[in-house]
Amino acid sequence: MNVVTIDCPHCGGRLERRKDEYFAKCPYCGSEIAFDEIKEEAQLGAYREKIDTLEHNENVDTVKRLSMQKWILARNIVFSVMAVFNCIGFLLVGLDKDKEESPLITIGSLLMFLVILCWMFGMPFLSAAYPGYNALYRKDERFGKVRMWLKLCVLSFAVFVASAFIAYIIMKIVM
Ligand SMILES: [Zn+2]
Repeated sequence: MNVVTIDCPHCGGRLERRKDEYFAKCPYCGSEIAFDEIKEEAQLGAYREKIDTLEHNENVDTVKRLSMQKWILARNIVFSVMAVFNCIGFLLVGLDKDKEESPLITIGSLLMFLVILCWMFGMPFLSAAYPGYNALYRKDERFGKVRMWLKLCVLSFAVFVASAFIAYIIMKIVM
């Protein structure tokens, strides 16, 4: 209903007014209050409401943004660890080609295996643990979640390929 509660400008008593009314009679002091006086009061109320809404939205946005930043930081740390492990893994396996049954090959393979484990299980676990991940995609988008997931897969794969390529370049320089 279009009812606003305002204070009577004469006695301060609370009274209700419908928004399409031009005059109101105060039930406490009996004075007739013209529309304009009430309009100012009503507008003040509306502004206060608007400010409250804005402040609330800003708080929600800040929480959301912090949560997203946390997720991206966690993701980047895992990506970095994956890249370093993968690079070292490739280097150990690649540089030790001639020697059979070298412990370096075992360590290198283990590192690469860890990267694959991290990719397959670490990322889904991490994205589930951080609410910021869910805040990144738009709820109204139909395939938002699928797209987010694909993006994460592609990014992980890019990290994998890039670190392997860096290992390859280092090998070319060293050998
Ligand atoms: Zn009054």
